[in-house]
Amino acid sequence: LPTVDNDDRVLEKTLEAEPWPTYIVDRTGRIVFTNAAWDRVAASANGPLGKDVTGTRWLDHTKGDELVAWQRALLDRVLERNKGEIHCADCNTPQRYRLFSTRYSPLAGREGPVGLVVLTSMIEDAPIEARYRLAPPDEQRHRQPTGFILQCGGCRRVHVTGTAPRVWEFVPEYVAQPRTDISHGICELCREVLYGIRLRSAG
Ligand SMILES: [Zn+2]
Repeated sequence: LPTVDNDDRVLEKTLEAEPWPTYIVDRTGRIVFTNAAWDRVAASANGPLGKDVTGTRWLDHTKGDELVAWQRALLDRVLERNKGEIHCADCNTPQRYRLFSTRYSPLAGREGPVGLVVLTSMIEDAPIEARYRLAPPDEQRHRQPTGFILQCGGCRRVHVTGTAPRVWEFVPEYVAQPRTDISHGICELCREVLYGIRLRSAG
């Protein structure tokens, strides 16, 4: 753990007791700790176990260049401002609709934050059919010339093919089940809301 004193074990025990996946990313962006709940959820979702991700780069587990950029900016921002952020996203299984809240907190060290504690909490769990119409979506409307459907990683809306300026709409079916024909980007709104001011001030 990136802390400098003997509080490591206390912190570890506290995080182990959390009921949902919790992990720590150090200042260099490496995952340095995952709790037991991580492994429990990973096993049920066929994801990588804690021992397999510990020591790897956090950003390497994110798909899509713009999402990676968003996540990198989040890490920089939380460390720089020494202020946490909360973001919500659904993470479904084929049978269950699950909404998670994720809290990104700076981990305090003697001279400022030494990393990021990422704490997830499931805030809604329902049968998939209770939240989504499970009718086939109008894929022609959304399929790009590349064959992929372009989805915003921020708001999960999809791009309507051939529109300029780009039109984005939310189609529940595309987030109800994992698909292999989705590519990820970021819409103009999310780009502006999530890091527009930062990009401008960086000049
Ligand atoms: Zn968006």
